Amino acid sequence: MHFDPLATLREHQLPVTAQRLAVLRAVDDNPHAPADQIVTVVKKDLGSISKQSVYDTLSTMVERGVLRKIQPVGSVALYESRVGDNHHHVVCRSCGAVGDVDCAVGYRPCLTASHTHGFVIDEADVSYWGLCASCAKDRKQSKMKAKNNKTKNTISPLTKKEKAK
Ligand SMILES: [Zn+2]
Ligand SMILES: [Zn+2]
Repeated sequence: MHFDPLATLREHQLPVTAQRLAVLRAVDDNPHAPADQIVTVVKKDLGSISKQSVYDTLSTMVERGVLRKIQPVGSVALYESRVGDNHHHVVCRSCGAVGDVDCAVGYRPCLTASHTHGFVIDEADVSYWGLCASCAKDRKQSKMKAKNNKTKNTISPLTKKEKAK
């Protein structure tokens, strides 16, 4: 699916500004990027723009349903242009890499909670956690290194994180 920032803004009946277009392009080019990264990309694109106005644009776009904000446990908020399909995410416990996972059952099935407690539910958040391919490889290698060289203290990123808790 091709994301067209201009058409998207018009579709949502939002005023088109250079800033909004730049923010939407930046998010579309960098799926699951944190706001700070979007600020960097937009600055490169537009020259001078304040961090706050990028933040404001991001939150307006999320409010209007143009962008989706996800926040995996222990992560800062991440933004993406893929909205409305209730897709899920796979998150690396070690480096925080995020990937899209199509909904396993179909359109928004997770919203059908087995028990709603009387809540009006509008979002279900499913995250798959594990190690990305590159971290899994590193882990394997550092384990092997530790075996071969017992005097060297090899701490994997996850061990560090766990210790910090
Ligand atoms: Zn990773
Ligand atoms: Zn996503």
